[in-house]
Amino acid sequence: MLAENLKRIRAEIAAAAGRAGRDPGTVRLVAVTKTVGCEQVRRAAALGLQDFGENRLQEAREKVETFPQLCWHFIGHLQTNKVKQVLAGFSLIHSLDRLSLAGALQRWGDNLEKEVTALVQVNVSGEESKFGLAPAELPDFLAALRDYPRIRVAGLMTMAPWVDHPEEARPFFRRLRELRRANAGPDLPLPHLSMGMTNDYTVAVEEGATMLRIGTALFGPRAGQG
Ligand SMILES: *Cc1c(COP(=O)(O)O)cnc(C)c1O
Repeated sequence: MLAENLKRIRAEIAAAAGRAGRDPGTVRLVAVTKTVGCEQVRRAAALGLQDFGENRLQEAREKVETFPQLCWHFIGHLQTNKVKQVLAGFSLIHSLDRLSLAGALQRWGDNLEKEVTALVQVNVSGEESKFGLAPAELPDFLAALRDYPRIRVAGLMTMAPWVDHPEEARPFFRRLRELRRANAGPDLPLPHLSMGMTNDYTVAVEEGATMLRIGTALFGPRAGQG
């Protein structure tokens, strides 16, 4: 089941990359393991997956400790009082969205003497329920981050609104790509675009995603999900 799902997803990624004239090797599949147990993580890793995403520290802890060799991505809203523990186990934070969080990342990066790699989360759709900066706030925010030398900004992340048809998500992904073009520079290349989930990842690949965050399509529906 997991093997078949992965095979299908990889084929879809390759097809979407082909349509966009992209090398599928530039697209990283981040397996989102919220609600999924250690055994499933082990199976996914055995199938060659290396990148894993979690949105809550509490739920992630056992998995991260059991599989420290995997590359763990923190993809959820990050509270400043969780930063120390997140930095201990996670390689990449997808949800940098405010300067108070940058301050905590800088402090703990200093403390642990490590560089913190993060993506800046942008609320492209403007939905109130979503975290992230407004697109208009992005230039000042990126400029302010220069004062936080422990933080390396590796790109942008967004969540598209939930839509019936994946095609409807396209304008939001395109907007994130345009925001990268408008804000990247020689000293800030912003190589990564983290966008696309189970319902819309093929469109995200067509629009330039370099990281897809996929849970349901790999592991099946979560409890409480339709
Ligand atoms: C749960 C989650 C995903 C994966 O969602 P699926 O629809 O199951 O693929 C991606 N990104 C974030 C931030 C999530 O919380």
